[in-house]
This record gives sequence, C-alpha cells and structure tokens, in this order.
Amino acid sequence: KLHNTILELKGNIRVFCRVRPSLPDDSVGTEAPVISYPTSVETLGRGIDLIQSGQKYPFTFDKVFSHDASQQDVFVEISQLIQSALDGYKVCIFAYGQTGSGKTYTMMGKTEAPDQKGLIPRSLEQIFQASQSLLAQGWKYKMQASMLEIYNENIRDLLTNRSSATENTGKQYTIKHDANGNTQVTDLTIVDVCSIQEISSLLRQAAQSRSVGKTQMNEQSSRSHFVFTLRISGVNENTEQQVQGVLNLIDLAGSERLSRSGATGDRLKETQAINKSLSCLSDVIFALAKKEDHVPFRNSKLTYLLQPCLGGDSKTLMFVNISPEPTSVGESLCSLRFAARVN
Ligand code: ADP
Ligand code: MG
Repeated sequence: KLHNTILELKGNIRVFCRVRPSLPDDSVGTEAPVISYPTSVETLGRGIDLIQSGQKYPFTFDKVFSHDASQQDVFVEISQLIQSALDGYKVCIFAYGQTGSGKTYTMMGKTEAPDQKGLIPRSLEQIFQASQSLLAQGWKYKMQASMLEIYNENIRDLLTNRSSATENTGKQYTIKHDANGNTQVTDLTIVDVCSIQEISSLLRQAAQSRSVGKTQMNEQSSRSHFVFTLRISGVNENTEQQVQGVLNLIDLAGSERLSRSGATGDRLKETQAINKSLSCLSDVIFALAKKEDHVPFRNSKLTYLLQPCLGGDSKTLMFVNISPEPTSVGESLCSLRFAARVN
C-alpha cells in the first residue's frame, strides 16, 4: 500500500512552522519586523529567523510557511500524511502556539469561505473522496468521529446533548487502552459518519459547544485542548485485508505564559494545568524522538489519551504557529524553542 517514505526516513515526528499575516487589529508601532527568512521564500522554505532587540535567532524546521502561504499551500504538504490514516496508520497533527497565532485558522479555518477552510475540513473531504474511490478495489470503510476538549485536566464531550444544568452529570470520561492499542473514553459520544455532510454538522455542533463554554467560562476555548478523532476501519471484500487507522487533529491551548504573580484561584489552577500538559506533551515527543525507553505518557490527560497514536509506527506532525507582531516576539521565541526541542 501507500508508504510515506519521507516520514520513514527521518523518523515519525515532523515540525512545520507557520507564520500568520499581519492583521488590521495587530498592535501597530514603529518597530522593525521581527521575522525574516534566511533564503528568499514566498510561501515555503525551511528556515526562519526571529529578531529580538537586534539579536537574530535562526531556526530550521521540516517546513516553514510564510505569511503568504494559503490554506491550500499548507494542505498540499500534509495530504500524504492524511492518506496514511486510510492505509491504517495512526496519525496526530497538533497546532501549538500562543493565542492569536493562527492555530484555529490552520486547523479549522473559516468554513464560510471555501479557500480559507483549514486542514480539518480539507482532510475529511480527502478521506471521504479517497474512501469512495477505493470502493472499486473492494475496500469498505467505516468511520467514527468523536470530539472532546481537555480543560484543567478534565475531559468535556463536545458531541453530547446537554443543557448546562445537567452538564457532565455522572459522566466519568475515564481513558482506557486495550491490548490492541484501541482507546476508549468511557461515556464519550462516538458517532458513525458516512458523509462529509454528516461530519460537517458534527463539527458545527462541537464549535457551538466550545463557544458556549467561551462566554460562560472565561474564554475557555483558548485555555483548553480541542481533540478531533476519526477512527477508520477498512475491510477489503476481495482480499479480506483489514486496516485500522486513526486520525487525531488537535488544536492546543494557547501556549502563552501567564506568569503574573497576581494570578490566583481558578486562573492560577488553569494556567498551571496548561503549562503542565504542554510541557508533558513536549517531554513525550522529545522522548519519542530520542527513542528513549521511558516515555512519560501518563503525566497528562492529553498524552495518555493519545498514547497509542504517538509511539510505534504512528506519525506525528506539530505545527508551530507564530504571530508576526513585534509585541509577541518573546512568546514567538518560546514557541520556536519548544518546536526546535521536539524536531
Ligand atoms: P489561535 O487559534 O492561535 O488563537 P486564530 O486562528 O484564531 O488564532 O487566529 C487569530 C486571527 O488571525 C483570526 O482572526 C484568524 O482568522 C487570523 N489568521 C490566522 N492565521 C491566518 C492566516 N494564515 N491568514 C489569514 N488570517 C489568519
Ligand atoms: Mg484558537
């Protein structure tokens, strides 16, 4: 079947950096640009330089998308990885970066404008199209979707029908892995999906569910991890071959450090939970990249949930999203250093 030879050559973890364009609402100033590219790139290169107080910090990643890269330019570079989920691989794609750096734009995009759709809708379109065309070769696929949020180390189901009064009542959301590497989250809604229309409506439901949290719970959506999971089981009726792939698409909580000494109570707890889970993710990916014997999956809900999809022959891609704002240069440097550690 299809093999992603590039991924196999260099291990299973890649890091792509994406710089968002300047926006009308960005802080304006007379500051010089803080991003430059070592070679002339219009949309795609491998190097990026960050300039802070006249000092240049060079970084190299598997790919660097400049502010001119379109959603389609980005998707072209990941479509092979998406295809491998249909071939039976376990795939994780993360978006990491401070709030406002373009994580949600990269993952979800603006669904109302077709050319601005992000990689989640594009990936699903590709998967449904490809599974249709594989029917001719005898392949029948079953797809199941779930969508959840991890906030303060608690799982929240984004596809459950609930009123705020009964929210999560009696639900445990305990993560369990079986010997075959299948993950179950108790009480989590799992929906069989047969078409792109069905899955689009689930994505809308999840977005709705997240934004409800946003007004009620202090911008929760940027303080929580969003995890979209598509389980893909394929059987070939001619050859009786079977494949079990998983595609996880994750919009991480904002990585900005909220180290204000004044942070107390809920805000402090929230910040600590985010810092802890992002550093756990970094530790896990770092340990996997270095092929260490002990990988600390159990140190956070997110890494424990994704454990079967992070090790072995699974494939991981991390987007590090960068804002071009001069006022964000400190956070951008932190993000690039985080990404460089796992690359
Ligand atoms: P985050 O999810 O990291 O907080 P968003 O994805 O919400 O950030 O992006 C912040 C703003 O920048 C949004 O208005 C978004 O539409 C816009 N934006 C981000 N990346 C791009 C891009 N590549 N092109 C155009 N607009 C973008
Ligand atoms: Mg976002």
